[in-house]
Amino acid sequence: MDKVMLRCFVSRCFLTNPVAGQTRKMSGGSLAGSPSSLAGKVAIVTASTDGIGLAAAQALGQRGAHVVVSSRRQSNVDKAVAQLQSEKIQVTGTTCNVGKSEDRERLVNMTVEHCGGIDILVSNAAVNPFFGNIMDSTAAVWDKILDVNVKAAFLMTQLVVPHMEKRGGGSVVFVSSVAGYQPMQALGPYSVSKTALLGLTRALAPELAQSHIRVNCVAPGVIKTRFSQALWQDEDIVDEFKKQLSIKRVGEPEEIGGVIAFLCSKDASYITGETITVTGGMSCRL
Ligand code: NAP
Repeated sequence: MDKVMLRCFVSRCFLTNPVAGQTRKMSGGSLAGSPSSLAGKVAIVTASTDGIGLAAAQALGQRGAHVVVSSRRQSNVDKAVAQLQSEKIQVTGTTCNVGKSEDRERLVNMTVEHCGGIDILVSNAAVNPFFGNIMDSTAAVWDKILDVNVKAAFLMTQLVVPHMEKRGGGSVVFVSSVAGYQPMQALGPYSVSKTALLGLTRALAPELAQSHIRVNCVAPGVIKTRFSQALWQDEDIVDEFKKQLSIKRVGEPEEIGGVIAFLCSKDASYITGETITVTGGMSCRL
């Protein structure tokens, strides 16, 4: 995406929000017995060897969950497992390209074999192979984006639900985007896929509530990861963004990870079908 296009979407697509917010930091120390504890839980986080997925795995692990991390490349899995182990987090790792059914099945089967069950799914994987005018996007682009960003999120959920039911319930969190509320210029198909996750959350929640499974979603704003580096590496673009934010900085992956862990915890036991926007105060509504 060129700089002019990026600037254009920053200034056109985000409205200011007058309500400022504060970042909530978890206090240290033992969480055992507290409603935020995830001790004894098993959590699959897809696309979790970097960025928001890795931060979600860290946040869940810090609260006592055994986390199963995965992504396409073995070297990335090895690195993430080593990092989490060094932080005393209980972790298992494997490769999984969420766009492949055999990989999804292997991830779920491996988790059940190694960890004895599944309580939490964080569906975080997304791709964006296309920048440009939406009218120039091809069928192949749409197939790839919808397969990985939407269909795989549903199909992973379908695979884990029977295992959650065996445990008496569970929690699913989808990772959408602020672009799901306000399509980003030059990122049309990606944005539409993120809107679909808001709908998927709402569609699944009532059905899975019968099995005591809560389904929620987070919609991050601009977070400092490799995926979004074209946005935050350029000072002019960051300055443009800051005008749209109540909290005048780009977000950190940990600020999404903590919200995901909250949604998976007992603290959120009466929340389902919701999307929490974590944007530093950008206005977000459909
Ligand atoms: P990131 O830092 O670039 O990390 C991407 C991770 O996904 C890596 O671990 C990568 O590892 C893995 N991955 C990529 N394709 C995969 C696939 N097909 N199957 C399994 N793993 C895959 O990205 P991020 O910014 O954290 O993005 C994570 C999620 O947040 C995405 O859903 C994204 O749309 C959403 N989001 C991000 C932002 C932001 O500003 N960063 C804002 C809103 C929403 P391998 O290369 O080894 O596969």
